[in-house]
Amino acid sequence: MPHRIIVLGAGYTGAIAAGRLAKRLHRDDVAITLVNAEPDFVERVRMHQLAVGRDLKPRPFSEMFAGTGVELKLAKVTGVDVDRKTVAVIDGNGAGELEYDTLVYALGSGWNAQGVPGTAEHAHEIASRPGALRLRERLGRLGAGQTVTVVGGGLTGLEAATEIAEARPDLDVALAVRGDLGDWLSPKGREHLRTVVDKLGITVHEHADVTGVEADRVTTADGTAIPAAVTVWTTGFAVHPIAKATALEVTGTGQIVVDGTMRSVSHPDVYAVGDAAYAMGPGDKPLRMSCASGTPAAWQAADAIAARLTGGKLPNTPIRYFNQCISLGRREGVIQFVTADDRAVRAALTGRLAAVYKELVCKGAAWGVANPTLGMPTRRRRVARERATATSAVETLA
Ligand SMILES: Cc1cc2nc3c(=O)[nH]c(=O)nc-3n(C[C@H](O)[C@H](O)[C@H](O)COP(=O)(O)OP(=O)(O)OC[C@H]3O[C@@H](n4cnc5c(N)ncnc54)[C@H](O)[C@@H]3O)c2cc1C
Repeated sequence: MPHRIIVLGAGYTGAIAAGRLAKRLHRDDVAITLVNAEPDFVERVRMHQLAVGRDLKPRPFSEMFAGTGVELKLAKVTGVDVDRKTVAVIDGNGAGELEYDTLVYALGSGWNAQGVPGTAEHAHEIASRPGALRLRERLGRLGAGQTVTVVGGGLTGLEAATEIAEARPDLDVALAVRGDLGDWLSPKGREHLRTVVDKLGITVHEHADVTGVEADRVTTADGTAIPAAVTVWTTGFAVHPIAKATALEVTGTGQIVVDGTMRSVSHPDVYAVGDAAYAMGPGDKPLRMSCASGTPAAWQAADAIAARLTGGKLPNTPIRYFNQCISLGRREGVIQFVTADDRAVRAALTGRLAAVYKELVCKGAAWGVANPTLGMPTRRRRVARERATATSAVETLA
């Protein structure tokens, strides 16, 4: 029987891991199943663009994975039993169960309302396609002069506020940030961000700790009310609760704790990548929820699984950061160069060149999903039987 590898989630990291495994392992020896709730690849990094009315290129998995050896299963994952090595799913035919020998968990994340009162009822999110489409519909119904307040001054908040202000100059766009605007950027990056935000007419509320959301406003800890016919909530991501309900070792927020090869520290036949994983990066800091670290983590997981199954050499490439790429609408951007552990250095690229750079990064990320070995030759190795079946044998290779 082939070694059954199930990959849960076909976002950036799950799709890359599945495709790369198919390139690394001999087709006769493994059955790779990629489980995803939706039939198309979602370019999550473009959700703010979708929200303002831009149409994204359709990327059906049936085309992306045709002939690759990866079998796609369209289903919603409802649970994982890591002791029985099964995954519970629901699809058009009802509830079912899948059995695995190796599991790659890549279910990603959603928005994080952080328990702020009124958020769930009144705020919009752009962490998912349905969320972005709801916001698109709502923005479409807003008349000139109406207010949109984006809460959160991180990368997603900056991209959302500037995208909305650029696409809808008739709206009154505000941005509420906890500290100073772009305070983690270099002086050059920060200054450029401020210039663009001012040019787009965005009102910035700094040191604003939003404590409540209502239908027409948000309120801050000091009692300030910021008008908001539409509130867009971008204060970070939260993982889905599925992993937390398993026997896997997870963090308090439900991320699966993994080692440097993205393997669960509690269950060696489970790997986790992307937003769902808690892995230490450079400077002993956990990897940030991002494609920037999720993509190399997916390569690492796939190569580690292939190495362990075939008796090859374990990958040992440290994951590091190079830059933070921030679009500020379609014509502006900041590419902030960073240290290996993601701290801004002096150098930053700004202006139209930065916007072009960011666009290339987004295109490259989608291309990397369809080309998970980055165009390098395919080398499908044979699985060593005893390694594929015995965890103890697998362990001795680690
Ligand atoms: C607007 C926006 C802009 C961003 N910009 C950047 C950026 O510029 N650079 C960067 O590095 N990062 C950026 N990010 C973050 C980046 O998108 C995420 O970190 C990345 O998508 C995580 O990849 P993932 O594979 O872990 O999860 P995802 O891409 O979220 O994929 C998870 C997959 O699992 C599927 N799924 C979830 N639950 C289930 C279930 N129960 N059953 C079946 N399938 C399920 C989903 O449909 C999805 O296909 C941005 C995010 C947003 C929202």
